[in-house]
Amino acid sequence: MAFSLYVHIPYCLSKCPYCDFNSYAAAVFPEQDYTRALIAELRRRAQEPPWAGERIATIFFGGGTPSLFAACSIGEVIEACENLFGIEAGAKITLEANPGTIDLRKLLGLRRAGVNRISFGAQSFKDETLKFLGRIHDAEQTRRSVATALDVGFEHLNVDLIFAVPGQTFDDLVRDIDEAAALNPDHISCYNLTFEEGTAFYAALKRGRIRPLGQRAESLMYALARKRLAEYGYAMYEISNYARPGGQCRHNLAYWRAQSFLGVGAGAHSYARRGPGGRRWWNERAPTTYIKRALNDGIAESGGESVDDRTAAGEFVFLNLRLNEGFARADFEHRFGRSFDGFFGAVPARLFADGLLMSEHGRVRLSERGLELADAVAAEFV
Ligand code: SF4
Repeated sequence: MAFSLYVHIPYCLSKCPYCDFNSYAAAVFPEQDYTRALIAELRRRAQEPPWAGERIATIFFGGGTPSLFAACSIGEVIEACENLFGIEAGAKITLEANPGTIDLRKLLGLRRAGVNRISFGAQSFKDETLKFLGRIHDAEQTRRSVATALDVGFEHLNVDLIFAVPGQTFDDLVRDIDEAAALNPDHISCYNLTFEEGTAFYAALKRGRIRPLGQRAESLMYALARKRLAEYGYAMYEISNYARPGGQCRHNLAYWRAQSFLGVGAGAHSYARRGPGGRRWWNERAPTTYIKRALNDGIAESGGESVDDRTAAGEFVFLNLRLNEGFARADFEHRFGRSFDGFFGAVPARLFADGLLMSEHGRVRLSERGLELADAVAAEFV
């Protein structure tokens, strides 16, 4: 079966204070060596099950800031994918771009290289908020970059927004959504700012230097975002993701549907399904170690584990419940050999009775209330 490929590019011009991704601030970075390492890893994976002989359904260049790399480096990786696996016709090939690192020339080059979807890390259209978030770009650069991407023919565009930023008002969020929609992308992501351990924001929070908006304001902002985006024709299909018809991110859908995916690059995670469960593994996080190991023998794993059926079932539910459509009871039963209600004992009945889960036309999904308490519901299964 065709699979989804994630390619991690770990370099950024500076580290945003809220970011807990495997990303490193670097003024110069070993682009050629890193590209060669990615190709070496792909070559090795192309010889092994379950990837050998399978085609690629989607490619997602994430980071970090993949738009820092030259279009020809991205093109080399895509060409290697085509030669080693084959890429399905119509595959969506996405690249994440920081609006401060992209221009007409690069966008043209990326399109020629085969990229057909750009995901812009806009985050906000208020310069004050962008500054607070440590972003290197301003709102005008985002407007220009997205407009240029449309001009050069990218039909599929995403604009990322962040809400619940300290100091942000409801009006600010409305303006951010209005501005994002005015750019006419077919996809908008709208994430709740979180304070993850190890980030500069987390340290500032602990020292009392910044104050989160609070749970009530966050839920109200989330409700406001869903309503406003729907008014512009962006339907929520995942907890933080909204699309116009045909605009859904097929790559991320593979994660949320708990399907196999291959991740290459520093710190990238992979999951190979075998039966109901399977195996997952992750690569060396440090780019220099990753490059050395991948160039040496094509493998740069730093850890892995098998996923037993119980864990896989919990993750299947947890991930699929992120989707508006939830999951089909029949799909659960087909994969795990037992009914959803039978597998988890008293838990589903309680969640249905509490109005957090709902069952409709053979599918299970979160109710409106369940959506507000999605983390707590997920915790019941994992
Ligand atoms: S640009 Fe993105 S990946 Fe890089 S530090 Fe900022 S949030 Fe993290």
